Amino acid sequence: VGVLALQGAFDAHTRRLAELGVESRLVKDISDLDGLDGIILPGGESTTMSNLLVASGLGVVLTSRLHDGLPVFGTCAGMIMMAHTIHDGRPDQISFDAMDIKVRRNGYGRQNDSFEQDISITSLDSPFHALFIRAPIIESIGSDVEVLASVGEHPVLVRQAQALASSFHPELVSDLRVHEIFLSMI
Ligand code: GLN
Repeated sequence: VGVLALQGAFDAHTRRLAELGVESRLVKDISDLDGLDGIILPGGESTTMSNLLVASGLGVVLTSRLHDGLPVFGTCAGMIMMAHTIHDGRPDQISFDAMDIKVRRNGYGRQNDSFEQDISITSLDSPFHALFIRAPIIESIGSDVEVLASVGEHPVLVRQAQALASSFHPELVSDLRVHEIFLSMI
């Protein structure tokens, strides 16, 4: 499983994958995509990642791999980059358009409004401790998108075909169950 490693919290994802006994590869160049069974798009700063994706040429190639069905899991900034529509993004910010969701960057507020909360996830029999850090809000979803968890009226974990996205950071807690959900989709 690849972990996009241009910027952001990619190390924590590789640690979680190692704990699950899954071989991972940092993805920094187009050639790093060869032979992957899935890819994780980490949290960080989506506008910076967007710049680096454009500069490296990885953006175009990865978009086409995702549209061809490469399983993908985006967390926070990674989810923003998967969205069909990004509100409050930068005008030149690119998206992979890999999931039919509309998101608003920093929708829960700025850094001071970061929060943690136990959430209930479909298919898990006990709560998951979710960390939200300058998190995007999912404002609407298409009819093919399945909601696996919500906080209030807003979905926070969503799945569409081979794509999974969370507005929180499962890589920053020791609970591996959200990563297991992704691995079950590969
Ligand atoms: N606010 C960040 C962005 O717009 C995302 C925050 C995060 O990934 N923790 O990219």
